[in-house]
Amino acid sequence: MNIKFCGAAQTVTGSQILITVNGKKILLECGLFQGRRQETYERNLNFLYNPAEVDVMILSHAHIDHSGNIPNLVKQGFKGSIYATPATIDLCKIMLRDSAFLQEKDLEWVNVIRRRQGLPKMPPLYTIDDVERAMDKFVGVDFNRAFTVAPGVEAMFRDAGHILGSAGVHLEIDEPGQKNIRLGFSGDIGRPNMPLTNDPNVLRDLDALIMECTYGNRHHGCYDEVEEELSAIIRNAAAGGGKVIIPSFAIGRTQHLVYVLHKLFNQNRLPDIPIYVDSPMACNATAVYRSYLHYLDREAKRIFLDASEDPFEFPRLTYIQDIDESKRLNGQTYPHVIISSSGMAEGGRILHHLRNNVDNPKTLLLFVGYAAKETLARKLMDGHKTVKVFGEEFQVRCKIKILDAFSAHADRRDLLNYVGLNDPARLKNIFLYHGESDQAASFKDALRSKGYQNVHYPAPGESFVIGKNDV
Ligand SMILES: [Zn+2]
Ligand SMILES: [Zn+2]
Repeated sequence: MNIKFCGAAQTVTGSQILITVNGKKILLECGLFQGRRQETYERNLNFLYNPAEVDVMILSHAHIDHSGNIPNLVKQGFKGSIYATPATIDLCKIMLRDSAFLQEKDLEWVNVIRRRQGLPKMPPLYTIDDVERAMDKFVGVDFNRAFTVAPGVEAMFRDAGHILGSAGVHLEIDEPGQKNIRLGFSGDIGRPNMPLTNDPNVLRDLDALIMECTYGNRHHGCYDEVEEELSAIIRNAAAGGGKVIIPSFAIGRTQHLVYVLHKLFNQNRLPDIPIYVDSPMACNATAVYRSYLHYLDREAKRIFLDASEDPFEFPRLTYIQDIDESKRLNGQTYPHVIISSSGMAEGGRILHHLRNNVDNPKTLLLFVGYAAKETLARKLMDGHKTVKVFGEEFQVRCKIKILDAFSAHADRRDLLNYVGLNDPARLKNIFLYHGESDQAASFKDALRSKGYQNVHYPAPGESFVIGKNDV
């Protein structure tokens, strides 16, 4: 078996791993690289393999850094099936359509400039038609059901506890004349004891593991305290007459925030101010969450479902689809909370809210999730004094706060526990991906000190042969 790391290799975004077994090519994930526009455009356009030669694909979850380049894969000749959980497929429908819209929108301004420079137009990475063609290739398989991916390759999705429908993948690999190999692919690993999602189902009895290490060198704040912190932040904003703006991933984080705010509302721990979810994609994703309520964790079922209450609806909350309604938020002078996407502030309505508020000292900008290098969210989190929004430079005068305890990613301790249920004598190879170098280096040392000897941090395009001539 050959494993080639084609994306999220020594970085976080753009997940793509190509496995060749028994002459068949299996692609795990086909995510978008995110970051500087020109660089990411080129990287997303050009695959490190020929899409027409890929036989089949497996997708762990709907986030754009895992799914966002699928329409381009199909556009460039991929004809196979794409296996994912039913919830992931429903979320992908929303995510990928929105992404096609953003791809085209994003290039409008770039192409105006290029035309002035006499340069040819840059075509979008893909269009809505490519998305529709890609959606036809999806095949839904629920958690804990074995399915055949290719000759000699059996797979099973296990709940990864990261977002709705997110899975880790067990792969049983049988190559003639060789020892069977059990390969684990973690996808993005969630955290135990988080609201809404179940605890991650650890992949066990593995011979090899490909795992994310986003927070391989970080410990998140304690979740138990973060709900009170959020409540205090909103109370302070209300008392000070300001607004709270929360850039948030439309899928997963937004529903988590709404769920927590609903809990706080029921406990009278929120001031009487309006809360807006200003993101058409988040509204649509919430509808998908509603249709999979049976996937939610025990706490959500106990608090809301047993009381026949919708976890994603409460009196102070308004979902905004309409663009004019969204624009009207700019003129609101009384305190309020806006949750808007994208989470990394690379596109979507959050950019309008940032343009209107980033230089306002009364506004609090609250970050609750990961932001890749070079993204606007990361610059603000890193304390840049000036930032560009829609090409215009702004002084950063708003208050900024980061609550990383809302993270849907396992931290160092969680990741070590995850691997720790596998015997180092059997788990011969661990491949760290989906993590920046400082996080990976420290995590690699931690794994080695626990007896896992072959821990790799593959470079983009790097290949490994396992099974026959164990690396
Ligand atoms: Zn994810
Ligand atoms: Zn990810």
